[in-house]
Amino acid sequence: MNQLHKGESLYQTAEKEIINCISCGYAHVIPLPSMASTLPIYLEQYWSDEKITHKRSDRESRWQKNHAKLKLNILHKTLNRKDPRLLEVGCGVGIFLETANELGWQTTGIELSPHARKQCVDLGLNVPYCSIFDPLLTAENKFDVIHFGLILEHLINPVEHLLRAKDLLTANGLISIVVPNDFNPLQKLHCEIADSPPWWVSPDHHINYFNQSSINHLLSSHGITPTHISSSFPMEFFLLSGDNYTQNGALGRACHEKRVQFENSFFDHGKERLLEEIYTKLGSINLGREIFIIGTKNHTQTTWKCR
Ligand SMILES: [Zn+2]
Repeated sequence: MNQLHKGESLYQTAEKEIINCISCGYAHVIPLPSMASTLPIYLEQYWSDEKITHKRSDRESRWQKNHAKLKLNILHKTLNRKDPRLLEVGCGVGIFLETANELGWQTTGIELSPHARKQCVDLGLNVPYCSIFDPLLTAENKFDVIHFGLILEHLINPVEHLLRAKDLLTANGLISIVVPNDFNPLQKLHCEIADSPPWWVSPDHHINYFNQSSINHLLSSHGITPTHISSSFPMEFFLLSGDNYTQNGALGRACHEKRVQFENSFFDHGKERLLEEIYTKLGSINLGREIFIIGTKNHTQTTWKCR
C-alpha cells in the first residue's frame, strides 16, 4: 500500500481520519498505522481472558457454531468436493475450525494471539505457530477454502493477504470472507436521527471499513470472482426501535441476546434455509451488520451488483 491515499472524508477524529480511498477502492484510516503499533494489540490485548470465556460460553458458542454450520454448508455446496481442506486465517478460539472438523473438513488455523491459539491447541485443533506468509503453508497441500472471519478490517494491507491466499488455493478453490458492513444506510439513518457520531468507527482496531460494493470490488479487482453474498442480522433495527445501545454496554448485551434468540428460533427448528434467504435478500440491498462473501479465483460468473 505505497500508493497515495486520497478520497472523500467520512469521519475525522483528533488524530485520524476515515477516507473513502479512491486508490484502494474501500474506506480506511489515514494515516495508516505501522505494524509495530498494531502487532502488540493482537499478540497481547485483543483476546482477553474475559473475551475468551464469553466466546467459549455454552450459549454463545452454540450460536456461533450454528452460524459456522450455515456458512460451511454454503461453501460445501459451492465447492462440491469430497474431504475439503480449509485454512482459517485468524481462527480465534477455534469455533469455526471445530465446527468444520465435526462436518468432516480437514482443517488448519492461523492465530497470532498465543492466548487464543492455546485454546485451539488444547482442543486438539491443527493451529501451527505461523502466519499466512510462512513457507510451512506453501509446503503443505493446497487448500480448497481459505476463510477470513472478521479479519480484513484489522489488516494494514488486506490485498497482500488475499493474493497470498489465492496462491494457497486449489484450482477453483474459494475465498470466504466476513467483514462488518460499515457506513451502511441504517447506521447513517440512526446517526441522522440521534445526531450521533459513527459509533462503529474504532481506528485502533478497525483500519478498513467495507460495504457490499467495496468488498465485491476488492475481490473482483484482484482476480477473485464473487459467487455468493449475504449479510447478518441488522443490529440497527434495535437502534431505530428506540434501544440505543451505542453507549450502553448492558443494553448492547441485551440486544445481542435478543438477536441470538431470533436466530436460534430458525436453527432450533430446521429453518436455516429460510434464515439464509432472509440474509441473502438483505445483503442484496446492503443491509445487515456483517457481509459474508464467497469468491472463486477461476470463475467467470457475472459479478454481483450492489446498490
Ligand atoms: Zn488507500
